[in-house]
Amino acid sequence: MSDTSEHIVIVGAGAAGLMAARELARAGRKVTILEARQRCGGRIHPLPASEFGYAADGGAEFVHGEAPVTRALLREAGLSLREIEGEQWHFDGAKLTRERDDPHEAELQAKLGDLKDDLTVADFLRRHFPGDGYAPMRHSIERMVEGYDAADPERASTLALRAEWMDGGHAPQARIDGGYGAMIDVMAADCRRHGVAIRFGCVVSAIAEEGSAVIVRCAEGDVHACDRVILTVPLPLLREIALPAEARAKLATADDIGFGNVIKILLRFARPWWRERKEDLSDMTFLLSDVAIPVWWTRYPEQHPVLTGWFGGPRTAELASLDSQALIDAGLGSLAAIFGLPRHHVARELVASAATNWAHDRFARGAYSWATPRTREAQAILARGDGLVLFSGEALYRGRDMGTVEAALASGLEAAGMILRGQ
Ligand SMILES: Cc1cc2nc3c(=O)[nH]c(=O)nc-3n(C[C@H](O)[C@H](O)[C@H](O)COP(=O)(O)OP(=O)(O)OC[C@H]3O[C@@H](n4cnc5c(N)ncnc54)[C@H](O)[C@@H]3O)c2cc1C
Repeated sequence: MSDTSEHIVIVGAGAAGLMAARELARAGRKVTILEARQRCGGRIHPLPASEFGYAADGGAEFVHGEAPVTRALLREAGLSLREIEGEQWHFDGAKLTRERDDPHEAELQAKLGDLKDDLTVADFLRRHFPGDGYAPMRHSIERMVEGYDAADPERASTLALRAEWMDGGHAPQARIDGGYGAMIDVMAADCRRHGVAIRFGCVVSAIAEEGSAVIVRCAEGDVHACDRVILTVPLPLLREIALPAEARAKLATADDIGFGNVIKILLRFARPWWRERKEDLSDMTFLLSDVAIPVWWTRYPEQHPVLTGWFGGPRTAELASLDSQALIDAGLGSLAAIFGLPRHHVARELVASAATNWAHDRFARGAYSWATPRTREAQAILARGDGLVLFSGEALYRGRDMGTVEAALASGLEAAGMILRGQ
């Protein structure tokens, strides 16, 4: 029988950390979560409903694809999902049109279907789709890899993204009624009910093995002794924590996992002015363009007069000098350019706003991970259950939708399972 007096310290109260804590505490383990922020959720970042008119999300917002762990958790919590509906529109620099399939779509699907050996997306496109005739398709794929996956086409794995593209773009997406914050609230409450201690404001700086015990040190001076540690901090932050030699050696492979950035901007207006046009935009969900903040979406079929702006991938570095207010201004400028309106017409309708460049978030340093051709190998090493320090979090997930909340929850579940099985 396993020793139920075992004390586990979990670093990070995001989706992975809370999931692991809940599983372990339910099985009778003593669990302490050390969290650097003053809140749970990490890259799930609820914004006040009083400002946006609904429980808005400054970080994760959509449930992608099948997401079995997320959906089971939501069912258990009595939270419902609403599938995304509506039309995707495109601004080509001159006019707004409904998004159409690329004429080379069938060729793309055939080449992807035949692919055996992995290569980067940029190499795949150069090899199979050279020349001017394919230029619009190459551009749109590169923009999708950057924007949707926050990845660099020169390093991103084609095999890892293939399933996503072979779905005809994107798998079904849904939103949680009450936002991802509602899910985090339920998980945190469940953890506390099962005796998990959640300590905020603890920035873990060092983890050391002393005999069969593990000592976890926080920058503020707190010291916690325990039997095992699950480390769920985002990939870029792992390198800032002093680790025992064995864990440090595994971490050398982390460079083979990509980590991308996203800028997300929420703008609430007095009225949905974008619907007052000759084109019928009443069922618009996504709007893609090449302006500074290139992707926008509505809450359709809900009618909230809120537009959410999104810019992902390596080119977000070009906006690194902009603070939150300057990002909001850039968002207003982008909307004015797309809709052919004077900027002040758009700005005067604004009633609430929020903008985050996630690269500037001290405890995230970016948005989420993506796969290079060497990522699966790196993950297999990092996710091994040997040693007293286990790695967990979205970047460790070896399933299809890497970089998601589902990935984080599944990874947390896996880490807890390894401890409970005595691995
Ligand atoms: C803008 C944005 C939009 C996104 N959109 C979606 C989406 O629509 N759908 C989706 O599925 N996913 C989305 N994601 C990705 C999703 O949010 C993440 O994959 C997931 O939330 C990661 O969970 P995690 O537990 O692995 O990491 P985190 O949520 O980052 O949790 C790690 C925790 O560790 C804490 N921490 C960091 N350093 C320390 C330290 N030294 N000591 C103690 N604690 C520390 C952090 O504060 C954090 O709370 C989005 C992410 C961003 C940023």
